[in-house]
Amino acid sequence: MAYRGQVVRSEWVSPHLIRVVLGGEGLREFRAGTFTDHYIKLHFPRPGVSYPDLLDIAGIRKKMPRDQWPLTRTYTVRSWDPETGEIAVDFVHHGDSGVAGPWAAAAKPGDELVFSGPGGGFAPDPEADWHLLAGDESALPAIAAALEAMPAGAQVKAFVEVSGPEEELIIKSAARFDLSWLHRGSRAVGDALVEAVTSLDFPDGAARVFVHGEAHFVKTLRRHLRLDRGLPREALSVTGYWRLGADEDDWQRTKGEWNRDVEPATEPSGPAA
Ligand SMILES: Cc1cc2nc3c(=O)[nH]c(=O)nc-3n(C[C@H](O)[C@H](O)[C@H](O)COP(=O)(O)OP(=O)(O)OC[C@H]3O[C@@H](n4cnc5c(N)ncnc54)[C@H](O)[C@@H]3O)c2cc1C
Repeated sequence: MAYRGQVVRSEWVSPHLIRVVLGGEGLREFRAGTFTDHYIKLHFPRPGVSYPDLLDIAGIRKKMPRDQWPLTRTYTVRSWDPETGEIAVDFVHHGDSGVAGPWAAAAKPGDELVFSGPGGGFAPDPEADWHLLAGDESALPAIAAALEAMPAGAQVKAFVEVSGPEEELIIKSAARFDLSWLHRGSRAVGDALVEAVTSLDFPDGAARVFVHGEAHFVKTLRRHLRLDRGLPREALSVTGYWRLGADEDDWQRTKGEWNRDVEPATEPSGPAA
């Protein structure tokens, strides 16, 4: 189902993160559930193409040639307020390239945004003995939402990689959580996360893992978690949110191929901690 939201307000919550709050009549029917990684698909009109009605995404895809379809970008629902119907979305501003980042940087009250969704699949598992959450800035909204939803008594190790200390945010949680902000500096995206997770002394017991962000480090960590740590597939929510050098259209097109060699051919023989 597609919705037409209106920008209610926007603010830079850090030098590279813009929070855009969407609201308006068009969101009256929107509902989010209990997943903390709920996401929506934003539909941006292509320059020079006119659409009968952007809300009719299915009709557009049926009637118009593919190269005229609106550009689609995927974003986490950072929060949804059932009272006001407002949705907050945190956009990483990664420079002038792309569609969604620059759109968010220029967003002003009254601007319209058509999106569909929500999808999602992760929520903190009350049965887990401990939780590992790790990601770059693009996964920070989902990691923050997961931390906020953790019940008292949950044990959490979290790693968020950002460019520098000015990107750190205050996140509150009832859980016993240990959140490390990793400063990328001049290193490649994900290097600090790989280092942190591979050298982590895992607590005892069953882990539930949420790792998202740039596809290269996510792939490295997925292999590490499955092969070196012996975690079962069901314990993992681990996928690339974006890929360096590819826009979202390219990434979505090549994702299947990219992930083909991620899973080990045979089940790991180690203990499923
Ligand atoms: C389920 C899901 C949830 C997501 N949630 C969020 C979210 O809440 N907030 C968020 O900011 N992103 C989120 N992302 C990632 C976001 O969809 C991508 O970053 C997307 O490519 C951004 O679109 P764009 O139009 O700005 O850039 P694109 O046109 O897609 O890409 C242009 C260029 O920018 C590069 N690029 C894209 N993203 C980044 C980045 N984060 N840092 C550095 N370079 C980048 C690309 O590699 C490409 O070279 C999510 C992705 C998924 C799959």
